[in-house]
Amino acid sequence: MGAQQVAERFAELYGAEPQGVWAAPGRVNLIGEHTDYNDGFVMPFALPHRTLAAVSRRDDGVLRLHSADIGGPAVELRLDDLAPRSDGAWTAYPAGVVWALREAGHAVTGADVHLSSTVPTGAGLSSSAALEVVTALALDDLYGLGLPRWKQARLCQRAENVYVGAPTGIMDQTASACCEAGHALFLDTRDLSQQQIPFDLAAAGLRLLVVDTRVQHAHSGGEYGKRRAGCEKGAALLGVDALRDVPYDGLDAALARLGGEEEVVRLVRHVVTENERVERTVALLRADDPRAIGPVLTEGHASLRDDFRISCPELDLVVDTALSAGALGARMTGGGFGGSAIVLAEATDVGTLTKTLEEAFAAAGRTLPRVFEAVPSAGAGRLL
Ligand code: ADP
Ligand code: MG
Repeated sequence: MGAQQVAERFAELYGAEPQGVWAAPGRVNLIGEHTDYNDGFVMPFALPHRTLAAVSRRDDGVLRLHSADIGGPAVELRLDDLAPRSDGAWTAYPAGVVWALREAGHAVTGADVHLSSTVPTGAGLSSSAALEVVTALALDDLYGLGLPRWKQARLCQRAENVYVGAPTGIMDQTASACCEAGHALFLDTRDLSQQQIPFDLAAAGLRLLVVDTRVQHAHSGGEYGKRRAGCEKGAALLGVDALRDVPYDGLDAALARLGGEEEVVRLVRHVVTENERVERTVALLRADDPRAIGPVLTEGHASLRDDFRISCPELDLVVDTALSAGALGARMTGGGFGGSAIVLAEATDVGTLTKTLEEAFAAAGRTLPRVFEAVPSAGAGRLL
């Protein structure tokens, strides 16, 4: 699906050429899981999979939204009627962005939007952020708002948190808006400072596979809230603003102070060690030693499985199978309880690895996972 095709479909739908076509990618988080609501570090990179939007502005207070991935006629909304909702409609994501822009005082007066995406939805690859960011970028351009990317990401996060009603951190939107090809984004979620870290897998003879387990266990939403609340409790008990403030070399002392709070101890240990793993990964990539990040990824998985307790049998099966088939490292990525895992491997091992994973899933009587290669790709931008 190219930009030209999306523009043509827009013209069929709305009877005029679009004023432009924009794109925003999905993302994979290399390391730094469940740290973003603890003011910690994350390290996502953009996928080649992206959401395209053909858009024209309107000046009559009307927003028309159409997605090729949903089908049916365009949905027509009046800007004055936009208000936070939790009815699960897909239109809430782009409408929420328009709402957030207007709430922030930007004079957006309407738009016609046609979308088409190659980001798998609900696989933990952030199709929601891609949809929000492409909407924000198009409107920023068409209305000449001049908002820096990090601010667009903030407004998209507000759209998702308040308008859609999903309590997510700032990582996904920042990744989609700010990543660069051939790099991972080292993001400090406390002050949003960012550094592009060279992550050219192909040059090193490596591949990073994304393995979408195609399962999403139903309790994932509630469990996210519980982990978040547990982390806040840990910070309160330790007298810090956020778990980010617990130093790695002071971890044992901090855990001792939590006494009998076993569950809080596990959550705190994950967050503090995970921040250290992000810093270690950054150092290894800066030292041009990408193979050495494999064990760091695997340590991260163990921490998510045993301490944070958000893995599931399908994710563990991917990680265990990949490691025994010679992968350099593997871990679940995203919120947990399903979604995707990532596997770092020698380029020459990819064929065997993929086959071994499929055989392991077949032997366990499970739906075959979707396996694809994740090439660190460009962030959001204008195509036409
Ligand atoms: P993820 O972000 O991991 O893919 P989410 O549940 O956060 O999963 O977001 C998925 C939702 O985003 C979909 O259920 C749908 O409502 C919306 N969405 C994403 N991409 C599209 C698209 N191309 N067209 C319409 N809706 C989309
Ligand atoms: Mg999402």
